[in-house]
Amino acid sequence: MSTQNPANTAANTPGAAPSAAPEAAKPSNFLRQIIESDLEKGTYTTRRWAGAPGDAAHHAQGEPDPAKIRTRFPPEPNGYLHIGHAKSICINFGLARDYGGVCHLRFDDTNPEKEDTEYVNSIIDAVKWLGYDWNGSPDAAPYQASDYFGFMYRAAEALIEAGHAYVDEQTVEQMRANRGDFGKPGVDSPFRTRTPAENLARFREMRDGQHEDGSMVLRAKIDMASPNINMRDPAIYRIRRATHHNTGDTWCIYPMYTYAHPIEDALEQITHSLCTLEFEDQRPFYDWLLERLTEGGLLASPPPRQYEFARLNLTYVITSKRKLAQLVYDHKVSGWDDPRMPTIVGLRRRGYTPESLQVFADRIGVTKSDSWIDYSTLEGCLREDLELKAYRGMAVLNPVKLVLTNWDDVMGAGHLEPCTLPALPHPPEGVESPTRHFTIGKEVWIEREDFEEVPPKGYKRLFPGNKVRLKGGYVIECTGCTKDANGTITAVLATVVPDTKSGTPGADSVKVKAAITWVGVADGVNAEVRMYDRLFLEAQPDAGGKDFIESLNPNSLKVVTAIVEPSLANAKRDDKFQFERHGYFVADRVDHRAEKPVFNLAVGLKDSWGK
Ligand code: ATP
Ligand code: MG
Repeated sequence: MSTQNPANTAANTPGAAPSAAPEAAKPSNFLRQIIESDLEKGTYTTRRWAGAPGDAAHHAQGEPDPAKIRTRFPPEPNGYLHIGHAKSICINFGLARDYGGVCHLRFDDTNPEKEDTEYVNSIIDAVKWLGYDWNGSPDAAPYQASDYFGFMYRAAEALIEAGHAYVDEQTVEQMRANRGDFGKPGVDSPFRTRTPAENLARFREMRDGQHEDGSMVLRAKIDMASPNINMRDPAIYRIRRATHHNTGDTWCIYPMYTYAHPIEDALEQITHSLCTLEFEDQRPFYDWLLERLTEGGLLASPPPRQYEFARLNLTYVITSKRKLAQLVYDHKVSGWDDPRMPTIVGLRRRGYTPESLQVFADRIGVTKSDSWIDYSTLEGCLREDLELKAYRGMAVLNPVKLVLTNWDDVMGAGHLEPCTLPALPHPPEGVESPTRHFTIGKEVWIEREDFEEVPPKGYKRLFPGNKVRLKGGYVIECTGCTKDANGTITAVLATVVPDTKSGTPGADSVKVKAAITWVGVADGVNAEVRMYDRLFLEAQPDAGGKDFIESLNPNSLKVVTAIVEPSLANAKRDDKFQFERHGYFVADRVDHRAEKPVFNLAVGLKDSWGK
C-alpha cells in the first residue's frame, strides 16, 4: 500500500510538536502555577545567557536570556530510560515548550564508574523519539555534567576559603556514628575546626593524588545538630581513582551528587529544577549551597529553585533501572527493548507511539503525593491514539480451513474474486481512507472459534445450517466439517451464496446475524505473531521488598503462526495496524521482514485484564 498509514507518521523529528493540544487546553497543576506566578512577577527577567553554561562572569557578558524559563532533564547514563522517565521528560520539555522556555538535556555523569555510551545514545534516541529537542536548537549537543568538574573544583576551593567547607579524615564508621540520627544530634568532627589554609592545602593534596581512596572527604560546614540529617555537614567531594569516560584520568576526586546537581543547574541558568519527591530533603542543602556560591559572586543570581513532584508508580510494572537490568541480565526478557519491558525502547517496540505516551503524561498529571496509576490507563492512551489512525486488516490467529464446496460450480473452477475494504472505516477529518485489496476463492482461513458443531446458546457464527458473511466477501451457509482420526476438525464446509458480495446490489438480499473475519488461502501470508501479556501477575511486584522475580507471568509471551491479508504482509517495520477483532499490532522493528512478517500485540481492543 503506497499511502501512508497515519498511525505511522509519528512526530519523531526534533522540534516537531506531537501534541496538538494548545496550552490553554491543558489542566493546570502546581508546577504550572509556580511558573505562571514567576513569569508574572518577573522573577527571572534579569537573567542573562551567554549561549552556553557558565559562571556569573560568563553569563554577565551575555544577552538577556531569550528563554523565559529553563528546565532540564538530567538522566544518569547508567541504564535505559523507562516510563517513569517519560513522565519526567514530558513534564520538563512540555513546560519549557508551553511557556516559551528551553529544556536542557544533561547527562549527569559525575559518577565515574557507571557511564556507558550505549546508554548515552539510547537516551538521546528516546528523547528525540518522544518529540523533543533540547538546549535551544534541534541539533545542539546535550550537556554533560562532567564538563563542569573544573568549576565544581573551583567552587569547592571558594567554599573552603570562606570557611564553609573542611577536609574530614574520620573513618567512614566514625563519620556515620557521629552523624547522629533523627532523635540525636550529630557530633562535630575533630577536623571541623581546621583553618581554611589547612583545609585548602589538604584538599589540593587530595586532588593531586597524595591520599588513598576513601581516606578523607571534603564536607560542607553547616550544622551537625540540624534536624535535617542532610544538613549535618554533607560530604561534597571524595577521592576515587577511576577513569572517567569524558575526563579520563584528569581527576582522582569526584563531587558528590548532592553537591554537583545544584551547581549544574546554576551553571545552566535553570530556573525551575523539577525532581521527584525523594529529593525533598535535599532541597535545604540545594538552597544553602547556591546561596553561598551566589553571595560569593561565583554563580549568577537569582539561583534556580527545586520543586518536587510525585514519581510515577504503575501497576504491574517495575520502574527501577537496577531491577530492569536484573531482568535483562538474568534473561527473563530478551533485552532492554523486549516489548514487555517498560523501557522507552521496549514500549516503542511494543507499538506505543510518542503521542500515546504524551497523552498518558498529561492524563496522569503532576501531583505532590505518591500514588499508583493503573496499567489500563496507559493501555487506554495507546488504544485511543491508534483507534482513529491505524489501518485495519484481517488476520487469522488460530486458523482452520473453510472450504466453499460449491465455489467451482457457481464461480468457476479456480476463480479468485477480488474484494476490497477501506483501511480506515472512520477516517479522521481530512484523511481519505485507502482501500485494501484481497481475493476470495474456494478456500479461506477462518478462526477455529468461529465454528461450532453444536452451537452454544446465542452463538451466531458458523454451525451447520447457519449463514454468516465473510467480511468484505460473500454470505456463506455452513454445511458441516471434516475431522481426522482423533476427532480434530480439519476443515469447515460451507456453500457460497452467489450475488451477495459486499458492496454489490445483492449484498443485502440475504440477512445474516454475523460477519466473520477471514483470509484467503490463495493470497494470505504466514506471519509470526507475538501475543504479549503483562510481565508480572501482581499489581505491585516489588512492593515491600518482595522478590519481583517470583511474580513473573509465565504466559507473558505466546507465539502463534497467523495468516494475514496481503495489505498487512506489506507492512514496514514499526507500522501499526488494527487486526480486526483482535487488537492493535505493530510490525516488529527488529525481526519483521517482507519474507517473514513478525507482528507484536501492542494492546487489545478493550480492557480485558481482570475480566
Ligand atoms: P531509577 O531509580 O530507575 O534508576 P533514577 O531516578 O535514578 O531512576 P535518573 O537517570 O537519575 O534515574 O533520572 C532522571 C530523571 O528522571 C530524574 O529527574 C528523576 O527524578 C526522573 N525519574 C526517574 N524515575 C522516575 C519516575 N518513576 N517517575 C517520574 N520521574 C522519574
Ligand atoms: Mg538516579
